[in-house]
Amino acid sequence: MIIKNVSLDIVCGITSKMPETGRPEVAFAGKSNVGKSSLINGLMNRKSLARTSAAPGKTQTINFYNVNEAIYLVDLPGYGYAKASEEIKAKWGKMIEDYLHKSKEIRCVFLLVDIRHEPGSNDKIMYKWILDHGYEPVIIATKLDKIKRSQVQKQLKVLRQGLQVVPGTKIIPFSAQTKQGREEIWDLIDELTGM
Ligand code: GDP
Repeated sequence: MIIKNVSLDIVCGITSKMPETGRPEVAFAGKSNVGKSSLINGLMNRKSLARTSAAPGKTQTINFYNVNEAIYLVDLPGYGYAKASEEIKAKWGKMIEDYLHKSKEIRCVFLLVDIRHEPGSNDKIMYKWILDHGYEPVIIATKLDKIKRSQVQKQLKVLRQGLQVVPGTKIIPFSAQTKQGREEIWDLIDELTGM
C-alpha cells in the first residue's frame, strides 16, 4: 500500500459503543512496551501519530487509524503493564474481547511479541482469544535489531513453542529501527483487505 494519508479517526474508550467503520480493519495486540506504537507508526510512515509509551499501559483506548480512506489499522490497548491497577488490567481484557467479538470488519489480528523473550501468560491468552474468535493470528516478533542474526531462528522457535502456535500461523520478524519486515506486513495486509 502506498500511504497517501493517515489520520486517527476514532478513539474508543471502555464505555464507548464499538464503531461500525464499514471498512476492512486489521488489529494489533500486544503487551505494553512490545513496540506496538513503533510498528504502527512505521507502517504509516509517521514518527509519532500512534503514541509511544512514556507511560505504558496508561491509555486504555482502542484507536482506529484511517489509512487512505480505505482501511483501518486498529491499535488495541497494551496489556500486562505491571504497575497498572487491577481495575485497568481487567479493562484491557474486556475491551479487547469486546472488539474481537463485535467488530464485523476484522480481516487480521496481529499479535506482537518481543523476539528476545519467552511469551508471557497474557500473550498466550491473547493468542488463544484470537483463535477462539475465529481469526488467524499473525505473530509479529518485534525488536529484531536487538538480537544477532544468528539468534533469530532460535528465538522464533522459542516464540512458536511458548505460544504453542497452531500449524499455519505466520511469524514475521520486524524492526522499527531498520524497518525490516515492513514490506512483508503490508503485503499481507493488502492481501487480506483486498487492496
Ligand atoms: P508500545 O508500548 O507497545 O506501543 O511500545 P513502543 O512502540 O512505545 O516501544 C517501546 C520502547 O521500545 C520504545 O523505547 C521504543 O523506542 C522501543 N522499540 C520499539 N520497537 C523497537 C525496535 O524495533 N527496535 C528497537 N531497538 N527498539 C524498539
